[in-house]
Amino acid sequence: MAPPKIAIIGAGPAGLTLARLLQASSIPCTVYEAELNRHARTQGGCLDIHEGSAQVALRECGLYDQFLAVARTEGEVLKIYQPDGTLLLDEGSDYGERRPDSFNGRPEVDRVDLRNMLIDSLEFASLKWGHKLTAVKTDASGARLQYDLHFQDHVETGFDLVVGADGAWSKVRHIITDTRPVFSGISGIDVKYSDIETADPALAKRVGNGMCLTLGSHTTVLSQRNGDGCVRSYGFMRLPEDWHTTCGIDWTKPEEAKRQFVNRYYNGFNDDAKNLMLDADNDVVPRPMYMLPIGHRWLHRAGATLIGDAAHLMTPFAGVGVNVGMEDALELAHAIIACKASWEEAQPFSNVSGLSTAIRQYEESMFPRAEGYARETWMYLNLFFNQRGGHAMCEYFARAKEQEKAAAEGQKSEIAVEKAITVE
Ligand SMILES: Cc1cc2nc3c(=O)[nH]c(=O)nc-3n(C[C@H](O)[C@H](O)[C@H](O)COP(=O)(O)OP(=O)(O)OC[C@H]3O[C@@H](n4cnc5c(N)ncnc54)[C@H](O)[C@@H]3O)c2cc1C
Repeated sequence: MAPPKIAIIGAGPAGLTLARLLQASSIPCTVYEAELNRHARTQGGCLDIHEGSAQVALRECGLYDQFLAVARTEGEVLKIYQPDGTLLLDEGSDYGERRPDSFNGRPEVDRVDLRNMLIDSLEFASLKWGHKLTAVKTDASGARLQYDLHFQDHVETGFDLVVGADGAWSKVRHIITDTRPVFSGISGIDVKYSDIETADPALAKRVGNGMCLTLGSHTTVLSQRNGDGCVRSYGFMRLPEDWHTTCGIDWTKPEEAKRQFVNRYYNGFNDDAKNLMLDADNDVVPRPMYMLPIGHRWLHRAGATLIGDAAHLMTPFAGVGVNVGMEDALELAHAIIACKASWEEAQPFSNVSGLSTAIRQYEESMFPRAEGYARETWMYLNLFFNQRGGHAMCEYFARAKEQEKAAAEGQKSEIAVEKAITVE
């Protein structure tokens, strides 16, 4: 067999899922990752893993049981507070309107656990750490279309397929489209409160086991419990793109930076909301949020494609990014695996057009799917950052639940009619 030479750029959830699925079907591939090793960077908070997408991918990866061992169903609950501390919704205690039923079946997993599980499932030496891609270039020397990968200190040659799974600022995207991420209008800080359980048990209880949103007018504190017990909070609001460099806050002095940030932007928020940021660890990351234009698509280019954030970067406000990315990996893997029979006999790999057709099909089905999620994400962004604070989101949930109920009633009456017809 002469398979295509496949490079996957980026060892995030999307790239690792694709590599695992290809290798499980005996299709060789190499993952190139910029970071030096799996511990090089803290991997951030937790992700909710949805039933219909990421969970399906994990099942096909043969990792579902491992996932269940680290998944936290208790992390699914949501609380919404007003800035003065009034509780608007508490799914843990059935207080207020709950989210629509479509939010069920989304257990939380720490990003680091998900990534480690996928890394450990790969074939030995198929993941190359410390390979920061700087450019992909066409190799014109051979008889067929191939690509060279330019890394910071060397070049690797002769790839039949390059998959960009290299996230928001993808370098692979540069050979496919001129489109770049745009600022979403939302910025702020990212902090982690490590010892909240011992330092402030009452505040830890206020957050609960899942998500705790304090929603003011266009200004928020979004907190989330992680598997190790810490609480990660995002102080996000509507701000200009260059705010973090022009606001005059010195981010190298975290204690003072947190104090200035909270004093300047959180008037009218009670101490609980403020302390989630003020008492957090002395490590503050300013985080302007970017997105690709909704409906981003490109003209197919043979031998190169994108998955995950590289293809459709979204803000995190619908909590779908990793799920869409892992679904991309699943669909692309299916497309490539379906071609496999056509390259069994050929020596060397020759079915460039067959592979290209399969990848084009993946792209054509991914574009509308990703666009739907991007629209949902934009809708949620405008609910999180709303003049009417948490009321806007609670009212939306109530309406959505009504619609779900009406749809279920409609289905029931359709079934009843069908039964009546069958009986007649
Ligand atoms: C604050 C925040 C909270 C979020 N919460 C959620 C959530 O609850 N649920 C959800 O579904 N999604 C969430 N997301 C989105 C989710 O994190 C992303 O959609 C997901 O990580 C995308 O996976 P990926 O594999 O496409 O890219 P990434 O996870 O970004 O991985 C890309 C990989 O490529 C590597 N890389 C980058 N450039 C290069 C290069 N030049 N050469 C080699 N390697 C490179 C990176 O080091 C990284 O390992 C959140 C995002 C943020 C910022």
